[in-house]
Amino acid sequence: AGAIEVRNVGQIFKTTTQDVVALEDVSLDVKPGRFVVLVGPSGCGKSTLLMMMAGLRQQTSGTITISGAPIPEPDPNRVGVVFQEASLFPWLTAEENVEFPLALRGVTKSDRRARAQDALKLVGLDGFGKRHPHELSGGMKQRVSIARGLVQDPPVLLMDEPFAALDEQTRMTMGDELLRIWTATGKTVVFVTHSLTEAVYLADEVIVMSPRPGRIVDHLQVSLPRPRT
Ligand code: ADP
Ligand code: ADP
Repeated sequence: AGAIEVRNVGQIFKTTTQDVVALEDVSLDVKPGRFVVLVGPSGCGKSTLLMMMAGLRQQTSGTITISGAPIPEPDPNRVGVVFQEASLFPWLTAEENVEFPLALRGVTKSDRRARAQDALKLVGLDGFGKRHPHELSGGMKQRVSIARGLVQDPPVLLMDEPFAALDEQTRMTMGDELLRIWTATGKTVVFVTHSLTEAVYLADEVIVMSPRPGRIVDHLQVSLPRPRT
């Protein structure tokens, strides 16, 4: 579980004025447990590719499989997703936000609470479950959002510029935290950023994309010695 296979994928957005080729003939393989970063300038199709891997958008052509099966719709058991904005419900506590996907699936209250607490512990927020989002810092809100993405223990975690809105110090702390979580859980991670520095800091593999049309232009194995906590 956790392998991602993208084969000859294209995405065309039809607008009233023109057809935008967001992605053209994109193929890639991610092996289970790898930390892969998609990097490239704005508009090269990084978010579009991630959304398709998440089942949030269907490709115009080609195929995508996660753990060997297509992903016709979002499935938090198979794929966790974290966006740039933590997008937590402000009226729910941290643990209620993390529990939310489980509540949707009818998991019992006590089971939900236990799993949310495990997930919050994993992201370093033990003891913060009763706080509301406005009582948490930006980095802590992103931790809650990561906990929500991981609460159903999916083999794959997809992240779209998750730290871009944070200040540099927090971003670096969160980068190290993410590497710790990744090491502890063995998830396959696909992480989108426009920062090459962040890509090289975090990745096992860097996939470089270029725009108009969005394409993969390089796929690098990173072998620099770097912190692994
Ligand atoms: P990135 O994440 O690398 O910045 P995106 O995936 O957001 O790139 O966008 C890729 C291309 O597709 C861009 O040219 C963008 O303008 C276009 N695009 C993305 N979403 C839509 C949409 N819903 N409708 C029309 N064009 C879109
Ligand atoms: P930007 O793209 O916003 O200009 P950079 O990517 O140049 O920022 O990052 C600034 C500094 O922060 C660099 O020294 C880089 O090594 C470090 N850095 C960036 N992202 C991370 C991260 N997620 N974790 C740890 N360090 C990071």
